Amino acid sequence: MLIEIAPPRFDVDLDLRYATADNLTGAPIYARARCFLHADVVPLLVRAEALARGLGLRLRLFDGFRPVEAQWSLWRALPDPLYIADPRRGSNHSRGVALDLTLADSLGRPLAMGTVFDDMTPLSHHWRTDLPLTVQTHRALLAGVMAGAGWQAYPYEWWHYQIAGADTYPLLTDSALGGIMMAK
Ligand SMILES: [Zn+2]
Repeated sequence: MLIEIAPPRFDVDLDLRYATADNLTGAPIYARARCFLHADVVPLLVRAEALARGLGLRLRLFDGFRPVEAQWSLWRALPDPLYIADPRRGSNHSRGVALDLTLADSLGRPLAMGTVFDDMTPLSHHWRTDLPLTVQTHRALLAGVMAGAGWQAYPYEWWHYQIAGADTYPLLTDSALGGIMMAK
């Protein structure tokens, strides 16, 4: 079951890039700027939200559930399996159990992370020691918040987190949401 992630039920900021042209394809992929996650990971999101709040920070979400149709759009734009899961194998986003996000300060201003979302270059890899100290600190803060809440980091994208055993969840198309995300 997919749950909509939005204020006021969730104390997060939404910056859903695939509903805008500000993404690696240069065009909107989603018809609607709405964010959904599998019900099983919602408690982990709430925990991360609380851990961030304890640090005076907020979660800023770029993407959650991504229908299989949208994964095809990304794959056509960048068919590189290091950064984009082959839609035939499936993205954990299409299972509803992966989340792309960053941290923001208490006023909602995003912390510097060294690259933009979906940078998809070696600069977006986690655990680099050659980035500015503030960037390394911010990435470590995000990783700490997410690990503390039970999420797993992905080494090649500082913004991507998912749960253990993600591949046991089924891939879902937009029909799981009645077609609302992709329909123009
Ligand atoms: Zn992701």
